Amino acid sequence: MDFSLSAEQRDLKAAAAAFAQGELNHDLPERERAGKFSRAAWEACARFGIQGLPVPTELGGGGVDILTAVLVMEGLGYGCRDNGLLFSLNAQLWSVELPLVKFGTEAQRRRYLPGLMSGELIGVHAMTEPESGSDAFSMRTRAQRTDEGYVLTGTKQYVTNAPIADVMLIFAAHPDAPPMSGISAFIVEKGTPGLTVTRHMEKMGLRTSPMAEVVLDGCVVPEENRVGPEGAGGAIFNSTMVWERSCILAGALGSMQRQLETCVTYARERKQFGQPIGNFQAVAGKVADMYMRLEAARLLVYQAAWLGQQGAAVAEAAAAKLFTSEAWVASSLDAVQLHGAYGYMTESGVERELRDAVASTIYSGTSEIQRVILARMLGL
Ligand SMILES: Cc1cc2nc3c(=O)[nH]c(=O)nc-3n(C[C@H](O)[C@H](O)[C@H](O)COP(=O)(O)OP(=O)(O)OC[C@H]3O[C@@H](n4cnc5c(N)ncnc54)[C@H](O)[C@@H]3O)c2cc1C
Repeated sequence: MDFSLSAEQRDLKAAAAAFAQGELNHDLPERERAGKFSRAAWEACARFGIQGLPVPTELGGGGVDILTAVLVMEGLGYGCRDNGLLFSLNAQLWSVELPLVKFGTEAQRRRYLPGLMSGELIGVHAMTEPESGSDAFSMRTRAQRTDEGYVLTGTKQYVTNAPIADVMLIFAAHPDAPPMSGISAFIVEKGTPGLTVTRHMEKMGLRTSPMAEVVLDGCVVPEENRVGPEGAGGAIFNSTMVWERSCILAGALGSMQRQLETCVTYARERKQFGQPIGNFQAVAGKVADMYMRLEAARLLVYQAAWLGQQGAAVAEAAAAKLFTSEAWVASSLDAVQLHGAYGYMTESGVERELRDAVASTIYSGTSEIQRVILARMLGL
């Protein structure tokens, strides 16, 4: 294993942080309160090259390796306090663009990737349903084959980016087929008859990342919109999840770094009992724990990205996602506690990080499911 960073990788990370600090934090408290997505920030990210990061150069993308993409996202997370924006970007990068790169036809790549990379199009990945979450393959959405292609019927929920989506990667099961081998993935474009985005969903955190339910009611999709062979949806989903789990929390590493620095500054400046609170071991110990969690999480994420580049890294991706999400929540709680009442106040921005972090132990497979994956990989 070798992921010592090149000067170019370090420069890219620093450039992403500087870009994010300058361009992505405008009006965040107001947008957060209103649950408002920033299209301007999304387009700025596209101009900077974020949406093109993992797409090969021959398809017009940045063509960077996965570790480099992770480093750029970490830099972005350090500079950008809008974790919702980062989450929306992640939802598209790893769960829409990468499946198209890896499993899409040439025509699908040429039709959708340029717009997704330029910021003109926004993508979603729709798997979860009212009756199927962790047990994703028990989905009820059906893909019935007809002369025109497929007719999709069902409901998807908790779909990130759905209210602003142009392109949806939707998973559906073929009637009477066995659960794992009977699922296919389809691209469904906004405006397709039978596709409705309903019920915008309000969230505890990540409030600038829009979410909705998607209803498919006799939605006809031509055969050329199926991604991969018929029945390959399960394999596509599993492969996508490994990538997503490896990379989705790269931005959280940057957030945790910024959080740590904020806490050190506050612990030096805030005085009680005639001295900085950082002099108290109970406070200093929290900062030490935050540092330790961050360093361990960083190594796990870099390892998953680096190994993923060489081939499958199922266990490493699950461990990286599990550890980093729980570390982010634990450090965010410590950050609130260290700031006292001020940390609990909305104006501090410290509590927002905690609300944003909690979701990370649920999306892309809950912490419990990551533990199930790890236990299985260990032979249980
Ligand atoms: C912010 C956010 C964004 C999301 N974005 C998307 C998206 O874009 N597209 C999409 O398709 N989905 C999305 N999801 C949904 C997400 O994938 C699901 O929430 C997740 O898979 C868990 O499913 P569930 O919420 O139905 O929980 P359930 O599966 O109902 O689980 C409830 C509880 O039971 C536990 N549990 C379930 N099964 C087991 C088991 N076998 N062993 C131990 N414990 C178990 C879970 O860990 C959890 O604690 C998003 C979720 C969130 C929070």
